Amino acid sequence: MKKSTLAIVVPCYNEELCLKATIARLLEVLHTLEAKGKIKEDSYIYFVDDGSTDSTWDIISAYHERTHQVKGSRFVRNYGNQKALIAGYESVRKLGCDCAVSIDADLQQDENAIEKFIDEFHNGAQIVSGIRNDRKTDGFIKKHTALLFYKTMHLLGVKIPVNHSDYRLVSKKALDIMEEFDERYLFLRGFFNELGLRTSYVHFDVKPRMAGSSKFNFISLTRLALEGITSYSIRPLRLITVLGFLMGLFGLLVGIETVFEKIYLNNSPNGWATTVILLCIFGGLQIFCLGIIGEYVGQVFREVKARPRYIKSEELK
Ligand code: UDP
Ligand code: MG
Repeated sequence: MKKSTLAIVVPCYNEELCLKATIARLLEVLHTLEAKGKIKEDSYIYFVDDGSTDSTWDIISAYHERTHQVKGSRFVRNYGNQKALIAGYESVRKLGCDCAVSIDADLQQDENAIEKFIDEFHNGAQIVSGIRNDRKTDGFIKKHTALLFYKTMHLLGVKIPVNHSDYRLVSKKALDIMEEFDERYLFLRGFFNELGLRTSYVHFDVKPRMAGSSKFNFISLTRLALEGITSYSIRPLRLITVLGFLMGLFGLLVGIETVFEKIYLNNSPNGWATTVILLCIFGGLQIFCLGIIGEYVGQVFREVKARPRYIKSEELK
C-alpha cells in the first residue's frame, strides 16, 4: 500500500478559543492514518498565524515544544486567509511533503474526510477538492451571496466547483507548479482548478463553528469575491463594451426617430422627465462601468508593484 508524508495546513486568525481542541483532534487524525498505514510518521500539521492579537501563537509554540508534528509560522500582521493559505502551501513545500491538505482552524469542515482525500491521492488524483454537502450552518445572506458568487463565476467562464471552500488536498507536483506563478493575488479556488491536473471530489459535512466567531464579514467576503473575479475573468470588461455599443445604438435610433417626427409630423416631443431619468440611468451606468475598469486597474497596480505577498516574523520547523 502507498504511504505518503501528509502536511495539514491550517490558517488561523485569533483562534485561541478553538485551537487546543483543533490541535488535539488533528493529531488524532494523523495518528489514526499512521496506524492504518496510509501516511508516514513524519506527517505534520502546519499552522499559519495570520497576525493574531490573542494567544494563538503561544498555543502553537507550546504544542511545538511537545511534538514536532506541530509546526508553524507567524505573519507580522493580518494579511487575510488566502495569503495565510498560500504561505502554508509554500512552507510545507519547502519543509517537505508528498501532499498537503488545507482545513480551517475551527474544524467546520469534517476532518474525517481527510482519509478519503488521501485515498483519492493514492488513486492518482493530484488535486482533491472538498465539496460541502449543504449550507445549513450559513445564515440566509451568506448562503445566497455565496451561491450568487459561484453563479457569477460560472457565467464569467471561471470553472470553480460550487460549494468548495478551500478544503482540499494538493500534491507536491501541484505545489511545485504553484511556485512558478508570481501573482500576488492568487485566487486559490480558481487557480488549482485551472491547472488541468487530475482532480477528484470528496463530499463532506459542515459543522457549526466550535467556538469564537467567524473572521469574515460582508466586506471581506465581497473583497474576496471581487479579487476572485478580477483575477480570473476579463469578461466584465467585454460586457461593458457591448453595453456601451448597445446604449449608443439606442441613442442613435431615438435621435433618428425624433428628427423624423419633427420633420414629417411636426411634433417636437417635450419630455423633461424622460431626459432626466435617462441622464441619471446612463450617468449611473457609466460610473458603474468605470468602477469595474477601476477594479482591473487596481489589480494591475497591485501586481505590477510585485511586493512580497506576506512577511513572516517567526517560524517553527
Ligand atoms: N482566517 C485567517 N485570516 C483572516 C480571516 C480568517 O487566517 O483574516 C482563517 C480563520 O482563522 C479560519 C479560516 O480562515 O481558520 C476560516 O475563517 P472562518 O472560520 O472565520 O470563516 P467562515 O468559516 O465563517 O467562512
Ligand atoms: Mg469557519
